[in-house]
Amino acid sequence: MMKRRVVVLGATGSIGESTMRVARALPEQIGIIGLSGRNNAQRLLELAREFPAATLCAGDEKAAESLRGKLPGRDVLHGGHGLEELASLPEADIVLIAIVGTAGLRPALKALESGKDLAVASKEILVMAGEEVMATAKRSGRRVLPVDSEHNAIFQCLEGKDPSTIKRLILTCSGGPFRNASAADLASVTPEQALRHPTWSMGRKISIDSATLFNKGLEMIEARWLFDIPMEKIDVVIHPQSIVHSMVEFVDGSIIAQMSTTDMALPIQYALTYPGRFSGACAPLDLTTVGRLDFEAPRADLFPALDLARRAGTAGGTLPAVLNAANEAAVDAFLAGRLSFPGIWENVVRAMDAVPFVEHPTLEQLIEADRAARTVVAGG
Ligand code: NDP
Ligand code: MG
Repeated sequence: MMKRRVVVLGATGSIGESTMRVARALPEQIGIIGLSGRNNAQRLLELAREFPAATLCAGDEKAAESLRGKLPGRDVLHGGHGLEELASLPEADIVLIAIVGTAGLRPALKALESGKDLAVASKEILVMAGEEVMATAKRSGRRVLPVDSEHNAIFQCLEGKDPSTIKRLILTCSGGPFRNASAADLASVTPEQALRHPTWSMGRKISIDSATLFNKGLEMIEARWLFDIPMEKIDVVIHPQSIVHSMVEFVDGSIIAQMSTTDMALPIQYALTYPGRFSGACAPLDLTTVGRLDFEAPRADLFPALDLARRAGTAGGTLPAVLNAANEAAVDAFLAGRLSFPGIWENVVRAMDAVPFVEHPTLEQLIEADRAARTVVAGG
């Protein structure tokens, strides 16, 4: 395999951290040539020293100036335009979007338009504008490689298969920290409790999404676009061990699953080295240590996120963007102590009912729907 020159947007976060582990393990296959961070300037500086070939993008002008002071002669961009410039660096082969939320959307489109493959961890950009992202990839003749572990699993299960033989995609879900909770328990959940995920260690926003099951809801819509599959063929099953990362059922009744340890290094690596397979940063899986794999149906009555996502994904248009933005704003409010835990989905419902629906939105209309949804949540 030719060495892939990789730009990482969101390098200072949890996915960014795992990506650096992958890059350290595979120096022959992966070269880091771009790194971005926003508030964590100290971490960006450390990474810049470790990967001296990388062009940098800081959160703002001031942070960029300070980095230039510490790294004389180094290229340091900043802000939203900086991210777009980094995403279209002439020497880049692939751009990994690991920015939480939708701030990575324009850089993602820019990367595809300038002929780069895209590795996507930021599911929010596919929920908001999956049709646009996939159409841009098609026009540019580039790939969109899934990093989200479920979608990376499905991607692996689908290799070499005829799409017309797919019966359904089965996304696995740990169930989060409140899998066995009652409605009364949920009403009093604190941010500290919700941030404690049973199997994965992740950024704050996705940890809350995992507790409400909005993460799985977003992933249903993400799968709809990545694999061009109608929503009714996408199911969710609770699997507390997080060893089976997802499955595909075919028309003959065969189910193919992908298994590995609970470590994002594997899906990140596979997206960055596709279709190559290498012994990298991910520890091997010993099934005898795992012992058992359990599966159960999700409790849709207690966790409305799955049904809300199905409604949004089926309606299409601006509704997924509204669901996504309202959720993002509500998660922020919950983390800041301004909203109860059930308040998260109550606000998503309110925004979905309030923001005017556009069936075939332009990118500008999607951005407008996103903004309107946040306004509804802020208005309380
Ligand atoms: P983190 O919060 O740990 O990291 C987010 C990264 O994005 C940081 O580098 C942060 O910079 C940067 N960032 C945040 N907001 C902005 C912005 N507005 N503009 C530019 N940069 C920004 O998140 P995760 O790594 O957990 O998640 C990243 C994405 O990957 C999310 O979309 C998540 O859903 C998805 N994902 C994560 C998984 C995981 O295991 N963590 C698994 C599957 C998907 P800084 O910290 O310097 O401010
Ligand atoms: Mg996932």
